[in-house]
Amino acid sequence: MNSTREYAAIIVGAGHAGVEASLAIARGGFPVLVLTLDTNAIARMSCNPAIGGLAKGHMAREIDALGGEMGRATDATGIQFRMLNRSKGPAVWAPRAQVDKYEYERYMKRALDEEKNITLKQGEVAEILVGDGACRGVRTKEGETFFARNVILTTGTFLQGLIHVGEEKCPGGRRDEPPAVGLSDSLRAHGIDLVRFKTGTPPRLHRKSIRWNKLEEQKGDEPPPFFSHRTKNRKVDQLSCWLTYTNAETHDIIRNNLHRSPLYAGRIAGIGARYCPSVEDKIVKFAEKERHQIYLEPEGRDTNEIYVNGFSTSLPKDVQDAALRKIEGLEDAEILRFGYAIEYDAAPPTQQKHTLENKKIKSLFLAGQINCTSGYEEAAAQGLMAGINVLKRLRGEEPFILDRTEAYIAVMIDDLVTCGTKEPYRMFTSRAEYRLLLRQDNADMRLLEYGYQAGLVSEAERDAFAKRKRAIEDDLKKLRETRIGNDTLYHYLKRPEASYKALTDNKIHSSKLDDNEAHYLETEIKYEGYIARQMIEVKNFKKVEKRKIPDEVDYDTVNGIGREAKEKLKQIKPDSIGQASRIPGISSCDLSLLAVHIARLASKK
Ligand SMILES: Cc1cc2nc3c(=O)[nH]c(=O)nc-3n(C[C@H](O)[C@H](O)[C@H](O)COP(=O)(O)OP(=O)(O)OC[C@H]3O[C@@H](n4cnc5c(N)ncnc54)[C@H](O)[C@@H]3O)c2cc1C
Repeated sequence: MNSTREYAAIIVGAGHAGVEASLAIARGGFPVLVLTLDTNAIARMSCNPAIGGLAKGHMAREIDALGGEMGRATDATGIQFRMLNRSKGPAVWAPRAQVDKYEYERYMKRALDEEKNITLKQGEVAEILVGDGACRGVRTKEGETFFARNVILTTGTFLQGLIHVGEEKCPGGRRDEPPAVGLSDSLRAHGIDLVRFKTGTPPRLHRKSIRWNKLEEQKGDEPPPFFSHRTKNRKVDQLSCWLTYTNAETHDIIRNNLHRSPLYAGRIAGIGARYCPSVEDKIVKFAEKERHQIYLEPEGRDTNEIYVNGFSTSLPKDVQDAALRKIEGLEDAEILRFGYAIEYDAAPPTQQKHTLENKKIKSLFLAGQINCTSGYEEAAAQGLMAGINVLKRLRGEEPFILDRTEAYIAVMIDDLVTCGTKEPYRMFTSRAEYRLLLRQDNADMRLLEYGYQAGLVSEAERDAFAKRKRAIEDDLKKLRETRIGNDTLYHYLKRPEASYKALTDNKIHSSKLDDNEAHYLETEIKYEGYIARQMIEVKNFKKVEKRKIPDEVDYDTVNGIGREAKEKLKQIKPDSIGQASRIPGISSCDLSLLAVHIARLASKK
């Protein structure tokens, strides 16, 4: 059956990227069709039941500030909340939450169901429909055709997915879910290159089979550090996570069975992330380490499943079983679901623009794991940005592109579309040049206004934020005016040993700010000098970013630039001299020649 209705957008996939993309466009007032393989698996957590963590926590906060759903969903379904890295500098503080993964799925399903502009439909998209260089719709495996002004592909690990456990392998997009088989061929037929990547997940254990009294307990923080500016006064009965370690016996079992690992036996061709190694990888690559941390994390309140964080593996089932049972506390552990590795097709992201629109096929956007990333937050952030860009286009507005000084999300997208990636891309704080400016505590300050302009943050939420900002300013004024000895509180706070909390605990300063606001203010005061220095760097960065490269530049006619550099410039098509400077292999000499060429073009005009 062919649908004659034309949607504003079709979203293929309802994972973390698909959900954010569809909600953004639908909330902007446009009709959206979401096509996904299983309408009961919405925003499923394929791997760890957690949101946030180092750098990912920053992105989850940024998604929230822009009006995305991930932060709110995490706050509503979280079972443990912590702020990581509290003992380190403020740039690397990071919120992390364990969530009830089943509640999270239900929450996101409800969000789609309740949105009047979304039609959620089960089906496998097997073809994209392209005409006059633009994507016009999709066709499903069952032969149904749907038309739209924009299509966003968010297919995750499903394209030609192949699951490995030891010597066994079977097609699958995720445990117990079928792969998507036709779409890869259609993408290739339309000139989109694909590569083969892989990722893996650990086994899940039965709660009752674990000797909890032998493990170290890790409790959540009180009060819980929430993700969303919209979450108020939620009481959470927090669950604990538990720590144990691998040991020499576990390592021996794994080492003796490496020949049965699909990874080491050469049965997996896909490339995995170096920074997210399987346990077999850790034991080979860090052979000198006597033990590795294993966190046992509940997957929800009403389930007996325990996630074994740090033990991602695709070893055969008997080896997983034997190796785990040598670990303290896991002597009687029963595996509910075995760990596995999965290979899938992904599209090198240099084929996309900063808006995540494909360079060859207009109105076709790619977001999430299909763009060679890994992780829920990375996927959700791209889904949201693709969604906002579709929304802007539908409204006839300028594209929405953040730069590297504004958000981790922008760092990720710029890295992807400018440099590409040879392995699944994950976000790290070290990837951001202006870390002190891109903190988790100031995400709202940086981005909430953009969310409002996109129509995803409401007037009331913006007003509440303005009120919070005024409270912070008032507090700052008070700190500047109140004296302690010869100093003001403001100057006193600049001392390394001084803390805002000590001032309030000792009743030296009375404050109406919550923990996050107080932390924001304290950081701004303590690091004022460093922040000012980064602001100068930001100015210089922006200057170079502003030097635009016109679309009509013909790189073949730029004198003096080598053939390889020309090929790279033609492939990436950088927007600015700044972006061109980040393309691997482009020298400062190439940039100068390019700048001269552009100046000549401009003077001729
Ligand atoms: C085994 C495994 C281990 C992982 N380990 C980690 C980890 O340790 N850490 C981490 O951060 N991340 C990990 N991930 C990755 C994480 O799950 C993904 O990065 C994240 O879910 C990607 O989100 P997404 O929205 O891009 O895709 P997904 O969440 O995979 O969602 C894809 C959606 O697209 C739908 N779909 C696919 N093809 C079609 C089609 N042709 N037609 C219609 N619908 C389609 C699917 O039904 C699904 O709804 C792992 C994933 C897997 C499978």
